[in-house]
Amino acid sequence: MALRQIVKEGDDVLNKKCRDVVNFDDRLAMLLEDMTETLRQSGGVGLAAPQVGILRRVVVIEIDPEEGVIELINPEIIETHGTQVGLEGCLSLPGKWGIAERPYIVTVKAQDRNGKEFTITGEELLARAFCHELDHLDGILYDSKVRRMLTADEISKYNDGELDLSDECYIEDDNGERIYPEYDEEEE
Ligand SMILES: [Zn+2]
Repeated sequence: MALRQIVKEGDDVLNKKCRDVVNFDDRLAMLLEDMTETLRQSGGVGLAAPQVGILRRVVVIEIDPEEGVIELINPEIIETHGTQVGLEGCLSLPGKWGIAERPYIVTVKAQDRNGKEFTITGEELLARAFCHELDHLDGILYDSKVRRMLTADEISKYNDGELDLSDECYIEDDNGERIYPEYDEEEE
């Protein structure tokens, strides 16, 4: 395994559409292993192949190290539910954060490193990571989709653990019913 350099904003490779993987070979396995090592070292939750300069439809996501890495080859979103509005960042745009709307629950169809098809469903952070990383494969960066980017003042508060975005961040189900934050039910 080897660490790869993470491409930063401004490099054209981040704006290009990636090609499908057709060969499920040792080279793909090595790319996946390098991407996982690079992701773990970065402290992020997801990495797409164009972020290491490779224009192929390959993504790795790891939310919880105990559950291990999710490898997605040629992934497609096949179903979504609800809405979540929350903070989003990207390893290719270090130090920046935005407030982005994504579906709350996302189901992805993909192939594994041997070419076998599978589906996986994630909610909240995992659903957000699916959307964010799959956008990378089409050359889309999250800052083109955000409701707004955080200001320098907000980022400094965020870094101090003092940022309050509870007015702007929420989760809703398919019917627009609020799941988070829950409304206080006051007696009349
Ligand atoms: Zn990203």
